[in-house]
Amino acid sequence: MSKKYCVLSMFLAACLLLSLAGCGKKKDKKKTDTPAVKYADKYIDLHLHLDGAITVDIAKKLAELQGIELPTEDEAELTKLLTVSADCKSLNDFLKCFDFPLSLMQTEEGLREAVHLVADNIKSQGVIYAEIRFAPQLHTNNGMTQEDAIKAAIDGLKETDLKANLILCLMRGDGNHDANLETVELAKKYLVEDGGVVAIDIAGAEALYPTADYRDLFELAKSYNIPFTIHAGEADGAESVKLAIEYGAARIGHGVRSYESEEVLKLLTDKDIFLEMCPTSNRQTCAVEDMSKYPFMDYLGRGIKVTLNTDDMGIEGTTLAEEFRYMEKEFGLTAEQEKIILENSVEAAFTTDSVKEELRKQLQD
Ligand SMILES: [Zn+2]
Repeated sequence: MSKKYCVLSMFLAACLLLSLAGCGKKKDKKKTDTPAVKYADKYIDLHLHLDGAITVDIAKKLAELQGIELPTEDEAELTKLLTVSADCKSLNDFLKCFDFPLSLMQTEEGLREAVHLVADNIKSQGVIYAEIRFAPQLHTNNGMTQEDAIKAAIDGLKETDLKANLILCLMRGDGNHDANLETVELAKKYLVEDGGVVAIDIAGAEALYPTADYRDLFELAKSYNIPFTIHAGEADGAESVKLAIEYGAARIGHGVRSYESEEVLKLLTDKDIFLEMCPTSNRQTCAVEDMSKYPFMDYLGRGIKVTLNTDDMGIEGTTLAEEFRYMEKEFGLTAEQEKIILENSVEAAFTTDSVKEELRKQLQD
């Protein structure tokens, strides 16, 4: 009996040990069976303004290169000049932040180097493809022509290893119709499928100068087969997005306020229009009053082809990686959804099919 008891206790002890060992194994197994979620670490920025991407470091380099005296040597003061203030309440206030960076890009060497440095900077942050946009007419204060500005920017692209293209912005505003017309004509002259100018856009104060005022310019662009995106539905409402689609925009800059019209939301899905959304920018310009109601996830859920971008990373103090982390943290964006967003970006890019194929491969690595 006691022997039996002894054998039984040994058996039980062995079982306990085995089960403990099994437990340990199970724990280890669990660890290895659940692969770490792989969030995006390579990015595509389709909506990035050159003058909004000038960091303090880049500003210093541009000033030194051109012998320009900076308004202050103080790092904190320089940061203040280049970034949006906390009390910025509207797109119009936000747009005032561009004066200083623009003053550093009024020569060919300044503009060329700015494109080069901005491209290198975003490449170091994980960006594998970017479309850098700028308005040639904003670089003519010291004698450069729009054409000089375009050539300088193209030269800047040649100095970086980042795969990138250029979008030429028209500007909303008074008395610049001829300048806008000139930009469209130059876009036609310099348009390539990849490696230079690939599209046009219109930027500036949308609420003050509505999209409806620019129909003729986009009709002209369309007749020249110039692809375009239009800033719309940011400071102005869904009607602005509707007009942009009607003109033939393949993409909408922001389009945040599309939710104001079911008809516009349907148009976006039916016509496969891409939205270039930029959360930090939209928060800072109050494109939506309450960020908890930011419509990005709703648009994604409806199958609208949303993309994630920075807009003005220097002014906003962000990077594209930070925009993705922000959306994960605040809106629960999943790794799977990030794949969809990046695939949308590839599809939306103004470039050739072979470059798109290459980008898809890089994203899978
Ligand atoms: Zn923009």
